Amino acid sequence: MDGFSLSYDGFDPEAEGLREALTSTGNGYLCTRGAAEWEDADGVHYPGTYAHGGYNRETTILGGLPVLNEDLVNLPNWLVLQLRIEGEDAIRLTDVELLGYRHELDIRNATLVRRVRFRDSSGRQTTLKSRRFVSMADAHHAGIEWTLVPENWSGHVEVVTAIDGRVSNRGVARYQQLEGRHLNPVSPRTFGPEVIALKAETRQSNLYISQAARTRVFRDGQPLPAGRTLYQMEDYIQQVLAFGVRQGEDTRVEKMVTFYTSRDPAVSDTLVRAATSAARHTDFAASFDRHIAAWEELWRVCDVEVSGNDRVQQLLRLHIAHLLQVCSRHTADLDAGLPARGLNGEAYRGHVFWDEIYAFPFFNVRLPEVTRGLLMYRYRRIGEARAAARDAGWRGAMFPWQSGSEGIEETQRVHLNPLSGRWEPDLSRNQRHVNAAIFYNIWRYFQTTDDQTFLADYGTEMMLEITRFWASITHFNPGRERYEIHGVMGPDEFHDKYPDAREGGLHNNAYTNVMVAWLCGIAGNLLSLLPASRAEALRGRLGIGDDELALWQDMSRRMFVPFHDDGIISQFEGYDDLDELDWDAYRAKYGNIQRLDRILRAEGKDPNRYKITKQADTVMLFFLFSHQEELREIFERLGYDYRAGTAQRNVAYYDRRTSHGSTLSFVTHAGVLAALDPDSSWDRFLVALQSDADDVQGGTTKEGIHVGVMAGTLDLVQRCYTGTHIRDDVLYLDPRLPGRLESLSFSVQVQQTPIHVTLTGDRLTLAIHPEGVSRPVRVAVRGDVRELRPGDQAVFEVSRDPATARPPAHD
Ligand code: BGC
Repeated sequence: MDGFSLSYDGFDPEAEGLREALTSTGNGYLCTRGAAEWEDADGVHYPGTYAHGGYNRETTILGGLPVLNEDLVNLPNWLVLQLRIEGEDAIRLTDVELLGYRHELDIRNATLVRRVRFRDSSGRQTTLKSRRFVSMADAHHAGIEWTLVPENWSGHVEVVTAIDGRVSNRGVARYQQLEGRHLNPVSPRTFGPEVIALKAETRQSNLYISQAARTRVFRDGQPLPAGRTLYQMEDYIQQVLAFGVRQGEDTRVEKMVTFYTSRDPAVSDTLVRAATSAARHTDFAASFDRHIAAWEELWRVCDVEVSGNDRVQQLLRLHIAHLLQVCSRHTADLDAGLPARGLNGEAYRGHVFWDEIYAFPFFNVRLPEVTRGLLMYRYRRIGEARAAARDAGWRGAMFPWQSGSEGIEETQRVHLNPLSGRWEPDLSRNQRHVNAAIFYNIWRYFQTTDDQTFLADYGTEMMLEITRFWASITHFNPGRERYEIHGVMGPDEFHDKYPDAREGGLHNNAYTNVMVAWLCGIAGNLLSLLPASRAEALRGRLGIGDDELALWQDMSRRMFVPFHDDGIISQFEGYDDLDELDWDAYRAKYGNIQRLDRILRAEGKDPNRYKITKQADTVMLFFLFSHQEELREIFERLGYDYRAGTAQRNVAYYDRRTSHGSTLSFVTHAGVLAALDPDSSWDRFLVALQSDADDVQGGTTKEGIHVGVMAGTLDLVQRCYTGTHIRDDVLYLDPRLPGRLESLSFSVQVQQTPIHVTLTGDRLTLAIHPEGVSRPVRVAVRGDVRELRPGDQAVFEVSRDPATARPPAHD
């Protein structure tokens, strides 16, 4: 196995939704689920196509109340290709006898391949091989190739090729009661004999989407004349191509497709643009070659190679390929945020949460322009963030927990508990910590890239306005002589208020307060990093006074952090007073208790009463500041104890009380445990790594992959298992290669210097790329500090702790 294939033998209706998500094809501009071309949306199949920024709002009246939602719209289905043999009904998997079936994603170039051998009701045996890709070379292009081989017959076939705009958002069962129609038809059109095109418009956001398809038939490398019949209506257009096929001979059908939306640059009418582009499109082979070359270039930058475990290698590459399907170089140019569930499903409606904090570490060191583009998504919405802060009575910029087209709060006010069937209040918008994440992301991006222009033009403004927001939501408690934050939630969504409280939110979520102390420390010095004239202008424009700077400095020293009596950091004030849950009893009764909140609520109990945690909350601190010195400094500046065992004790305490109801949590715990308990870290890493491929949450992945988790597993390898962090322009490494791996290697780019990192059990090799913009870089490996120049290769002895070394497993 070369680690570049994900394949399934045999058709399994139950698993098809999951397979469709895992075998999607995308290029960072648009992405399409791996549904079979010949199937419509039904309980088994769900063809879905999504593009960055393709949002639309609709209102549903639920129990007499209007519920407004913004969704990432399922765009017209461009896949449609159906086969009719001798005038019979189009072939569907359920109507034929399957003699062979293989469904495969070629991970190396995100190409979907299906090989189907079937016997139809008339006894004809046929092989159909389908290949399709969404071009990584030409963002607006995609192609499907069918190869048909009649095995025991010759005769007449028809291929229906269509663009279907009669689609709606129906991909998530628990949203079924909500309005799913988002498209209005505009017009179908043909351009010459071969090109069909369709234009649709989103109902509220008035976004035009046009697709065009040119379908041709080939035999022996030559175009085969085919009869063409057209049928069109306002939201659907099809051509039927009629031709003969011969026993044992290949006949190929190519459907080359183009996409444009009114958000694209250099476009007047999207329909004309799509059709012109389709008419000029090269054939499948040439287009596919360009696509492969574009992926090859990406792998040179993005691959993470491991040896010692084939499955780990395969899944890491699957994750890389999926990340690039959502965010590639094409994305950098778009006004795109990072949808938590990627572009291959409708869960969370394509909204942007804080998950980018897990994804940026991967992009920062490989495709920093992607992070920059995604951070610009935030910057373009700072006006709404300012308005949100103002409307809530605060200052600065308060970015929403869930963000969509405009950057206003998109979090639902009610959500459906699938276990009880009840709509329950959703208070999760109180997760103001997303604002600490955005600050953190900008800072880490800057540390990694040294992108002074971004910092001066956009980053500092966002960071200052975020700090200002935190300073205004904070109040000083004279009794404690500390600053406090009330009314917010931490990442743990099981606690959204105190039991029996009317108001949502908690007092002093430790994660939030520590992040605020940290960011206040950075914010005070930000202006000194900018050219003086720029700093002065920005300060003047934002009206930042000395009193504000002094307040931030004071907050960095006096934020309140709650502790239990025994010194454990309290997740929030009062956590220690909550009831312990009988975890064993719940596990015995329900098996999987990751979503304890739903279970408890369905039992009529309030999760807020218990010492339970959905996902890493306090533990997040040890993950984000994986170099413990940084965290120690924050705590010591605050005047709190930080001891050698602080991380260990806190992680152990919360680990016992965490259900990992978000798979992000496995990543976080694995990262923190890398230095504390390598075996346990490895176990969590494996769960995170397999969580989408094996659908560990039982049904969520078919609604969209988990981008943060996929990226997080790569971050674990590159950052946590190499013990990497950047500080004061020095790249620190302290490798802790898990005993189950023999070696790992990957390339990173740190402050414009490309470095190849290879780690074997006892040896770390850093090779600085000899060409390009490489400049010297200072590295420190366990106290051994060296300056490396372009072309240098340095080897460090880093013998593995014998206690943690294990023979590699070849499973
Ligand atoms: C998690 C959040 C996450 C969101 C989107 C939720 O289940 O609790 O932390 O941002 O999913 O992935």
